[in-house]
Amino acid sequence: MISSKLSIKRNILLNPGPATTTDTVKMAQVVPDICPREKEFAEMMKTMRADLVKIVHGDPERYTAVLFCGSGTLNIDVCINSLLPEGKKVLVINNGAYSTRAVEICQYYGLPHIDLRFPIDRQPDLTVVEETLKKNPDIGLVHITHHETGTGLLNPIREIGALVHQYGAVFTVDTTSSYAMVPIDIEKDNIDFCMASAQKGIMAMTGLSFVIGRKSLIEASRNYPKRSYYCNLALQYDYFEKTGEMHFTPPVQTVYAARQGLTEYFAEGEQPKWARHLRVFHAIHEGLAELGFRDVIPRELQSGLVVSVRYPDDPNWSFEKVHDYCYEHGFTIYPGKISTTNTFRLCALGAIDEEDIHDFFRVFREALHTYKIQIPARYKESY
Ligand SMILES: *Cc1c(COP(=O)(O)O)cnc(C)c1O
Repeated sequence: MISSKLSIKRNILLNPGPATTTDTVKMAQVVPDICPREKEFAEMMKTMRADLVKIVHGDPERYTAVLFCGSGTLNIDVCINSLLPEGKKVLVINNGAYSTRAVEICQYYGLPHIDLRFPIDRQPDLTVVEETLKKNPDIGLVHITHHETGTGLLNPIREIGALVHQYGAVFTVDTTSSYAMVPIDIEKDNIDFCMASAQKGIMAMTGLSFVIGRKSLIEASRNYPKRSYYCNLALQYDYFEKTGEMHFTPPVQTVYAARQGLTEYFAEGEQPKWARHLRVFHAIHEGLAELGFRDVIPRELQSGLVVSVRYPDDPNWSFEKVHDYCYEHGFTIYPGKISTTNTFRLCALGAIDEEDIHDFFRVFREALHTYKIQIPARYKESY
């Protein structure tokens, strides 16, 4: 029984996750103590794994979900270190901070890799991707980020996945900030493995992450070089299949919250939920336009979930002061992740709707007034 009788202050998180959660998800963590090795707990994780596959419309015969205790970066680590056969190399298609993270993972494991870079405000050039695949028949795994959370750009994974498969490689896609928000069809989108963590699309708590992908490829990877003990996909999968449990202690209360998050996901529905995120995204754009703020990424490439906003060229502008003012009033805004331009981000993740964005802009406008920052926002050049 979940009670939401406690009154918990509702903060609106406009950072790119962890996102605002419902009170029912918060309260789902308050449960009687349980040893996670009990059957009851394993049963709950079994249905959760099936539900996680269902979210991306995977055939349960051929796709599975493997849970890990850790934040979302763990999934990138797991996929890259576990799914690369001996003698093969990784191709990272890199147009942002999260793909750069995948490159760093290759570096840390000493894996042969190609860091194929593209500008952060453009989609990768498919001709260059294809040439690279053609010239390097030893590429065994291609990795990309679906939604580059640092900028808000969405990558064309279906088209890239088709190329990857044409050249016989495995396609791993970091969908951490799109999964359970942007509708994904794992098979039609040519994804072999996607991933997310519980605090983003399913609007639950941090500390639980999951990789979703093809059983046959996990089974094949049992003979690949073992590069990590805690973060090996086949080892964790085999343990789940044998016992229904995580190999090591799961984040018990976080799993209960994720269970509730999934229940609420299916109650809301894939399309209505996506429509709600888009509603929030449009409200963010409207609010920014009214104040004369400018964004960075071409609108047609934006994911619908993150807006990167340029700092105005105003001597009174201070992100820290505006942030602190908003924070004190229950709204969290977030710095950008673009090295060449000063930006901040407003995100449409979480259990929020357009009224919350209207409320936010009232507070944001007050902050601008308080610090005498000009409205409409001032920019030196026209970008
Ligand atoms: C949030 C996020 C991650 C995971 O980051 P953590 O800090 O490990 O939670 C990975 N990839 C993308 C695209 C993300 O948005």
